[in-house]
Amino acid sequence: MRRLNRPPVVPPSLRDDGRGGLTRRIHIDQYAKTGSPPSHFQGYWNEPDVRGALLAMQGWVCAYCGADLSEAGADVDHFRPKSVHWWLAYDFANYFLSCTPCNRSVKRERFPVAAGHSPFGFAEAGSLHLEARLLLDPVDDDVERLLDLHLAGPDLALCRPHPAVDSPGQARVDGVIRFFRLNRNVPRLRKRLKVLMDTVEASKNGGDSRARVLACRYKSHSFGAIRVLERLAPHLLPSIDEEIEWLIGEISWSLIRMIERRPIEPWDRIGERDAKQMLWALAVIWCFPPRGVTIDVADLLHRFGLLDYVRDYRDLLMKP
Ligand SMILES: [Zn+2]
Repeated sequence: MRRLNRPPVVPPSLRDDGRGGLTRRIHIDQYAKTGSPPSHFQGYWNEPDVRGALLAMQGWVCAYCGADLSEAGADVDHFRPKSVHWWLAYDFANYFLSCTPCNRSVKRERFPVAAGHSPFGFAEAGSLHLEARLLLDPVDDDVERLLDLHLAGPDLALCRPHPAVDSPGQARVDGVIRFFRLNRNVPRLRKRLKVLMDTVEASKNGGDSRARVLACRYKSHSFGAIRVLERLAPHLLPSIDEEIEWLIGEISWSLIRMIERRPIEPWDRIGERDAKQMLWALAVIWCFPPRGVTIDVADLLHRFGLLDYVRDYRDLLMKP
């Protein structure tokens, strides 16, 4: 699990006049009249603008287990389940991209809270920061200082609470590790181990650029690579500029390959939802780059030949 910065964007589908936003209004009005929460939800969270904004936030990496979403399936997960926190069903701040196993097998509608507490209801919607949730939120919690990995010994690559965390914190982080089965999914563990070994190898044998890429937070299992570099070669840790440049490059090359396979003009008629979500992702990065980014995103998009295509999406994002 690595720390994520949520872009301060409301994707058009979730704005007050978007389909998600309008549905949210209807749900709240109905609840005010009848006292009954909605029981059915349309999946507007899967619209390309929403998925694209999440791709811009986290790359193709599961927010919980670090799996590569192009291999493990990419679901939009409601951090607070819509069956409980129904008013957050169309709230971008409640979404993460997660792999299919984490979303459908592990998390489902579960949202554990501390013993003696209950998840908050709509009446407490304004004070969710006080809810006694047990799961770690990769945006709100400093997960990189709470979670750690064994870098040696028989438990190599297994997750553990960070040694600096206090005792109640250790119990909570242990619970999160068990909840997401972070140490029990063997294929996932193998991949995490390979990233660790590859990073050690690259950092010791002159593969500086390879090590930097492995530790990019938008790359699968990069959390392990970051830990290795912190220990062995901190000067190789990528800067936020390098990380975002890598992400823009990955998305841009995927788009370019898609164009080459199926050259349809103009772009906005392309049917592929994947292409649209990538264009939305680039527009979100352009409009709302993570704090600290100094590279010229527009110039980079220009160099990829994508600036004019992304501009249309940026204009939609910036529309009041
Ligand atoms: Zn996952």
